[in-house]
Amino acid sequence: MCGVFGIFDHPEAANLTYLGLHALQHRGQESAGLVSNDGGMLHGVRAMGHVRKIFTRELLDQLPGRIAVGHVRYTTAGGSLVKNIQPLTAQFRGRSIALAHNGNLVNEAPLRDELERQGAIFTSMSDTEVVLQLMARSGHASVLEQLGDALDQIQGAYSFVITTEDKLIAVRDPYGFRPLVLGRLRSHPGSWVVASETCAFDLIEAEFVRDIEPGEILVIDASGPTRVVRPPQPRRFCVFEHVYFARPDTVLDGVSVYEARVAMGEQLAIEHPVDADVVIPVPDSGVVAALGYARKSGIPFEMGLIRNHYVGRTFIEPMDSIRHFGVRLKLNAVPQVVAGKRVVVVDDSIVRGTTSRKIARLVRNAGAREVHVRISSPPVNGPCHYGIDTPTRAELVASSHSIDEIARSIEADSLGYLSPEGLRAAVRERPGFGYCDACFTGNYPIRPTAGAGRRALRIVEV
Ligand code: AMP
Repeated sequence: MCGVFGIFDHPEAANLTYLGLHALQHRGQESAGLVSNDGGMLHGVRAMGHVRKIFTRELLDQLPGRIAVGHVRYTTAGGSLVKNIQPLTAQFRGRSIALAHNGNLVNEAPLRDELERQGAIFTSMSDTEVVLQLMARSGHASVLEQLGDALDQIQGAYSFVITTEDKLIAVRDPYGFRPLVLGRLRSHPGSWVVASETCAFDLIEAEFVRDIEPGEILVIDASGPTRVVRPPQPRRFCVFEHVYFARPDTVLDGVSVYEARVAMGEQLAIEHPVDADVVIPVPDSGVVAALGYARKSGIPFEMGLIRNHYVGRTFIEPMDSIRHFGVRLKLNAVPQVVAGKRVVVVDDSIVRGTTSRKIARLVRNAGAREVHVRISSPPVNGPCHYGIDTPTRAELVASSHSIDEIARSIEADSLGYLSPEGLRAAVRERPGFGYCDACFTGNYPIRPTAGAGRRALRIVEV
């Protein structure tokens, strides 16, 4: 769960990257980093916290150069340590390189073991550092060939944005698990931008050019963009990006997240109708699907839950105590909307089940006569190995409970989940545009490979 951004050839590269990271903040709120490239010399800022807190005018002024890459991070591999904040930077063979990664490698552990056997010293627990180490050990002299060597060895989910020498490089893994898009600035047509989501382009007034294709390496330098396409696998774009993760104003692989969520809600109303007086979303994650549910069912849509926008996304905080406390801190029910009513509450997913229970209680305590929970995705019953933060199988309520049991445990009068087929239709699965839905179906496109266990190096930098 991360967001990446890169820009090529703009006098305010760092400023625009800062804006791009703002638009991608929902993809990771634990740390952020920005590295600018001034004629091959890299300048970077990396810190824990939100984009708006980290980057001051003074800091941005210290990031010269016409190329920049940035990253927002939520830990999926490596733990939340300052050392792991991206973009990672390294120096080898007389050049500096910065790399920002969204995704998760599935064979990081055996690669790391092998590199350590060869004498490599790692400074972070991040799977991304393995890529830099593989590049440094390549027998080739050119960056592109070094990158090619590394890509031949890594497996898993990766959307990379890299800068080195006079280049910006964008890479998407052969399955296309995570998104990556190419755009160019309207005001400076020579300025190319790469980002996890199109919403970052809207903010900086860049036009969307196209998706980076699965298996593609796009190199942008003074002669413009050049693409190298490695053999793609059948496309397995992450369906959870549409369900929860991406912003609704983003278009992913040609499908609008907003339209997909409306379609999920409509399909949910067809699959799990209920006699009710009002449909309310869990804000913000359930809003668009609830609109679809209300539209299809003809039941009025109201905002029966109000979110306090000044507390972060609760789930994003890795500490258990904060997450449980967070639901109350974050949401409140409106008795004027729900009292005496049969209420349909729509959310995007149930993971551990704690949020839904608290919400059902909130709505009932505000006077609802019945609480019917509708979820715009199937039961999550397996962990994600490709970059979405899901807990272990044991913590996933659907991995060990039937839907009736979950309904009882969240104290709902009824519970309905969207079917996997309904979800696939909503995201317009079509030949050549397949999805990874392993967290729902257990169909993992690639399995992780174990390595020797290791102890994390814990350094706190202040
Ligand atoms: P839970 O209490 O674990 O069932 O949390 C479910 C809530 O967390 C839902 O409202 C989702 O919108 C949200 N959610 C689902 N998956 C994730 C994720 N990977 N990261 C952050 N929030 C999530």
